[in-house]
Amino acid sequence: MNVWFTEKQTPTFGITAKVKSTLETEKTDFQQVDMLETEQFGNMLVLDGMVMTSEQDEFVYHEMIAHVPLFTHPSPKKVLIVGGGDGGTIREVLKHDKVEQVTQVEIDGKVVEYSKKHLPSISSGYNNPRVNLIIGDGFEHIIKSEAEYDVILVDSTEPVGPAAGLFTKGFYAGISKALKDDGIFVAQTDNPWFKADLIQNAMRDTKEIFPIARLYTCNIPTYPSGMWTFTLGSKVHDPLAVSPEAIKDVDGRYYTPDIHFASFVLPKFVQQLTE
Ligand code: SAM
Repeated sequence: MNVWFTEKQTPTFGITAKVKSTLETEKTDFQQVDMLETEQFGNMLVLDGMVMTSEQDEFVYHEMIAHVPLFTHPSPKKVLIVGGGDGGTIREVLKHDKVEQVTQVEIDGKVVEYSKKHLPSISSGYNNPRVNLIIGDGFEHIIKSEAEYDVILVDSTEPVGPAAGLFTKGFYAGISKALKDDGIFVAQTDNPWFKADLIQNAMRDTKEIFPIARLYTCNIPTYPSGMWTFTLGSKVHDPLAVSPEAIKDVDGRYYTPDIHFASFVLPKFVQQLTE
C-alpha cells in the first residue's frame, strides 16, 4: 500500500512525501510528534503536521542558522539556542572552537529523545561536554536572563502552540536584555511566499530594538515554498562587515564565505518586506 505524508503549507497548497514507515507517533504535552521514514529525504521529524527537519536536507538550515552569526561575532564564548530539539544547530555551533558553552532550552523532551534515536547524524552533538541542555520554555529562560550570551539562536517551530510567544516584540526585547553589549541574535522567520507578514513584523521589531537588522535566506526543499529566511539583530557587529578571511571551513555542504555574503542579497519582493 502506498502511504503519503502531506503537509498543508497553506489551506490550499502543500507538499507530499512517500512514507516507508512510521517510526514514532505521539501526542506529547506540547504537540503531535511524528518521526517518518521517507523515500526521498530519509528520516523526517514532523511536529503538529509540519516538517521540522529531514536527514537529507537538514544541513542547509543548521549551517545557515549557526555560522552566519558565529563568524560575525569576534568572540562567541556563550551561545543560547531556543528550541532546536533535533540537535542540528548544536552540532554546527560546536564546530566553533571559540564557543565555551552552548545552552539549549527545548520545551519538549520527547523531541530530543526521538531525535537521538532516529536522527543520529543530526543529534550527534548532545553528548559534548560543552552542551548544557535544559528542558523548559525558552520564553521563560530569556525573560530571566541578563547580559549573559554572546549569540542567541531561536530555532523554534512556527508561531503557534508552544512557540507562539517566540515571535513577539517583547520576546525580541527580552533577547536584547539576555545578550551581552555586543551580542547577536538570529531567529528563523519562515518563508516570504506564505508568511510575508511574519517577516515584516520580525524585521520591524528587530529594527526598533537593534542598531543592525538584516534578513538572509537559503534553500530548503522540504520547507514551505523552499525559500527560508533568518532575521538577524546585532548590537555592534555587522555580518556584512566580516572579513572573508575570518570565515573558516566548517566541513559543511552549504555554507561558504561566498554564501555568507550572498545570502543577504534578496530578490526584490523579499527586500520590500524588510523596508
Ligand atoms: N528548523 C525547524 C523550523 O525552522 O521550523 C525548527 C526545528 S526544532 C525541532 C523546533 C523546536 O522548537 C521543537 O523541538 C519545539 O519543541 C521547540 N519549541 C517550541 N516552542 C518552544 C518554547 N517556547 N521553548 C523552547 N522550545 C520550543
